[in-house]
Amino acid sequence: RPAIELRGVRVSYGSVTALDGIDLRVPAGRKIAVVGASGAGKSTLLGVLSGEVRPEGMVLLGDAPQSAYDPRDVRAAVRGLTQDAHVFDASIRANVALARPDAPDAEAADAARRAGLLDWIDGLPDGWDTLAGDTRLSGGQRQRLLLARALLADPPVLVLDEPTEGLDLATADRLVSALLAERRTVVLVTHRLAPLAAADEVIVLDRGRIVQRGAHRDLVERH
Ligand code: ADP
Ligand code: ADP
Repeated sequence: RPAIELRGVRVSYGSVTALDGIDLRVPAGRKIAVVGASGAGKSTLLGVLSGEVRPEGMVLLGDAPQSAYDPRDVRAAVRGLTQDAHVFDASIRANVALARPDAPDAEAADAARRAGLLDWIDGLPDGWDTLAGDTRLSGGQRQRLLLARALLADPPVLVLDEPTEGLDLATADRLVSALLAERRTVVLVTHRLAPLAAADEVIVLDRGRIVQRGAHRDLVERH
């Protein structure tokens, strides 16, 4: 059974058709990058995969119907939503553990490490007496906190919107390598070359349809 199966998926907002008949089967463990111009339907597709957008057509994620998915577990590092990353005054590890309070400490620390939150897993940076809720973490740190929470929640499918946005190149590359080393299925929207080249497959969206699909190398050669 594929990890993701979409058949005849359509999403309309009033008179705007955001997704116009998407058929997609993604084998378990595959890493997919989604590209396309602004308005092509990328965010809507991610919303369908994470359960936030209810489309017409059929959506299956592993053994589960779309309605069984908790968007907070599946979708991480969503650009523009990093403000929603609730940060409370405790260690990074404790903040990560919010995703699964029963998780052993070592697992929470490991998720933080895999998301690139290498520093201060158990303590706070020098000179900080608190994370001060919303004020001290940078956008990139919040993004990685969301990603760490998603990894700890351990969904079979992980959906990421521009996970490297706002990160410096070295950090972005480390993050992408870590994501592609995950066993789970990963679908990410990106504009950056490194994740595109490293993904198993690239899907090109145009006006709500999949217009190309293949290895990045092959898509580039066709242009
Ligand atoms: P992308 O992520 O590729 O930029 P989106 O999925 O955000 O594309 O949008 C696809 C189309 O649907 C666009 O025409 C966009 O304007 C429209 N759209 C997306 N979300 C909404 C919404 N909540 N209400 C109305 N139109 C929307
Ligand atoms: P990222 O790469 O995730 O964007 P950076 O490591 O570049 O994060 O930035 C760290 C963030 O923490 C920045 O927003 C910075 O202003 C803030 N910061 C770093 N050190 C201190 C400190 N001692 N006191 C308060 N804020 C700090």
